[in-house]
Amino acid sequence: MPPSTSGPSASPSPATLPPALNIGALDRLLAPLNTDQLLRQVIVDAFPSRTVVTTSFGAESAVLLTLIAKTDPATPVVFLDTGYLFAQTLTYRDELVRHLGLTDVRTITPDPGDLAREDPEGDLHKHDPDRCCRLRKHLPLENALAAFDVWISGRKRFHGGDRASLPRVEIDGRYLKVNPLADWSEAAIARAFTDTGLPRHPLIEHGFTSIGCFPCTEPSGTGGYSRAGRWPGRDKTECGIHAPNGRYNPE
Ligand code: SF4
Repeated sequence: MPPSTSGPSASPSPATLPPALNIGALDRLLAPLNTDQLLRQVIVDAFPSRTVVTTSFGAESAVLLTLIAKTDPATPVVFLDTGYLFAQTLTYRDELVRHLGLTDVRTITPDPGDLAREDPEGDLHKHDPDRCCRLRKHLPLENALAAFDVWISGRKRFHGGDRASLPRVEIDGRYLKVNPLADWSEAAIARAFTDTGLPRHPLIEHGFTSIGCFPCTEPSGTGGYSRAGRWPGRDKTECGIHAPNGRYNPE
């Protein structure tokens, strides 16, 4: 089924987590669960209709999305099309959605008025990439995620950098964020592709190990830091959507 589309303008009332939520207690409760059990507990048992998944349909996304489809293929999945994605990523999105039978993939885009006002030449990424990420990623996501309060991400500790100490569950602003693959190794991810015959992103064979917007992504080669090809030549290593307290937010 092709992905559904919704614009960034919708802004339903945000739900709220119980004020007494104890993240330490929750972490201990979830610690014995394997990844399948964790996802079932979160999506089906604890937070039905309150959980959303974000994905880039990048180099490793298929692994998390397979587990999501197995748990509940109707789980809302938000995909951010910044307008600067590789054509191969869009093709791969459609292929994976069909392959996995996901039924609620929402492709969101930046607000055209924001782009016309703040990035009329389309070159903001060259001189202010943090602001470009704010415009093309943070703002549309804020709208798309407003109806949810539990957010599942596919980040892993082996990505290094800020992710090296990633917990399985954390509080990020008003969201309970769940990182079910946090403790998966690079080898385990590779095995998941091999064991299940999952299709690979077409750019993998061209040396890309982490795939984002084309102006800010290069092949990263083999054997090194898997996100080395992101924002090459800059000290920026994250787009900032997962940075606590809007760390990369220039406003
Ligand atoms: S990754 Fe680059 S092009 Fe994409 S939103 Fe961020 S700065 Fe802009």
